[in-house]
Amino acid sequence: MAKMCIGGEWVGSTTAKERAIINPANGEVVDTVPEASAEDMRAAIDAAQAALPAWSATPAERRAHLLLKGVELLEQHKQEIACVLTREQGKPLAESLREFEHFLHGLTFYAGLASKIRGAQVALPQDGMFGMVVKQPVGVCGAIVPWNFPLTLMGTKVGPALAAGNTIIVKPAATTPLATIQCIGLLNQAGIPNGVLSVVTGQGSTVGEELLENPKVRRIAFTGSTPVGKHVMEVAGRTLKRVTLELGGSDPMIVCDDADIKKALTGASVGRFYNCGQACLAIKRLYLFDSIADAFIQQLVEKVQRLTVGDPMDEQTRVGPMHTKEQRQEIEEQLESAVKQGAKVLIGGKRPEGEKFAKGNYFLPTLVTEVDPSTRLVREEVFGPALPIFRVKDLDEAIEQANASIFGLGASIWTRDLAKSTRAVKDLQAGNVWVNSLHIGYDELPFGGVKQSGIGREHGPEALEHYLELKGVVMAT
Ligand code: NAP
Ligand code: MG
Repeated sequence: MAKMCIGGEWVGSTTAKERAIINPANGEVVDTVPEASAEDMRAAIDAAQAALPAWSATPAERRAHLLLKGVELLEQHKQEIACVLTREQGKPLAESLREFEHFLHGLTFYAGLASKIRGAQVALPQDGMFGMVVKQPVGVCGAIVPWNFPLTLMGTKVGPALAAGNTIIVKPAATTPLATIQCIGLLNQAGIPNGVLSVVTGQGSTVGEELLENPKVRRIAFTGSTPVGKHVMEVAGRTLKRVTLELGGSDPMIVCDDADIKKALTGASVGRFYNCGQACLAIKRLYLFDSIADAFIQQLVEKVQRLTVGDPMDEQTRVGPMHTKEQRQEIEEQLESAVKQGAKVLIGGKRPEGEKFAKGNYFLPTLVTEVDPSTRLVREEVFGPALPIFRVKDLDEAIEQANASIFGLGASIWTRDLAKSTRAVKDLQAGNVWVNSLHIGYDELPFGGVKQSGIGREHGPEALEHYLELKGVVMAT
């Protein structure tokens, strides 16, 4: 059984309960982890509070040094941890390796910023008065992480939190704790002091809830679904914690008649089917200009046909299983309701047949046209490998339809026309816009959503500010 790291100690749960972690590709048990109680979470919070004064007083350069030492250690275990990630999550091994590398890049990025945090000196109207803005850590932080990118989404919270001098407790998704536990173990082994970085495994409804309610926690960084995000804000609001929410998306991709079609085809295929469609910034609606639509759809069907679905440990595999049976059932229901309302499935739309798929949560890459915009497949977030395709007459109609969503995470436009791309950058309601580019998050750029896709930003120097309090100081000299 894997253990949790609380206050530097490797422990089981006080309840002695365990949870089996299931491989989405074959239903086998990968390992078990403690099913922690609220009491276990309180122990982690107390340890984080005890460790806070010394850690926040540690010189920033030293904090950065420890983070970088951690990155070095992690690097040595890359292959092993990527395999664990694939076995617990289901993504192809090449994607796990890429996620791992991105995770290390993010930690390195924030280690580099630790010693560059600076406040300000301010002129005050009276003579002899001296003003300053001092930046200090917020305090004990809680990181609540989903299962689709367990490592990068943990790193985008742990990196800035530790760089800024906070302590933090990670609550991984109940179904993907294993790679996270290993990484946190190695970071601690690098010399991050006991209690500064803990991991508590268990359910959102018990250990997550304790993080939200406990008054000693001053900051919650949450990534997950929009419904749970609303609950997080409500409960954390009772003790006025500082909250950032990275929530669901329904990213539109617009392809204009003057686009580089070959690149756009790759953008649509990778953008929708990466991680079996289970990405917040996946392309979830495709809008094609009328004059290119037929040819584009035909070529996209051919491209999707060539995607190899299979065992995520196999090098040839491009699309692995979905993470859970429940996720697969949800996409099946969303598709069924669209078909009932007249949608046409061009390819996929069902589970693959054959013995090698029988025990995994597989679902075929799916393209759908003639979709009624009022169906669940369009209104809701589709968190799996199915893409509804729409035809539009011009950019006005494309932008209007793209914006007709409660979500506003990302959006892209594919065009060679500067005027069209400028208009899209300005008018698309999204926290992130890509022009002729895959929907990719960069550590250097702030990332997050508008509307019901979230509040606040992760990545970039901007995210560091969410982990810092401003103190206004007046000195009479
Ligand atoms: P989820 O069901 O909302 O769960 C996310 C995390 O919240 C998990 O760790 C979960 O724990 C925990 N949780 C559940 N109930 C809780 C409660 N009452 N109190 C505290 N924590 C609680 O989301 P998911 O299904 O794992 O992830 C998929 C969603 O994440 C999608 O909507 C996706 O778009 C979104 N996402 C957004 C971004 C972004 O940057 N905007 C990035 C990636 C994913 P359990 O595992 O124990 O339930
Ligand atoms: Mg969930």
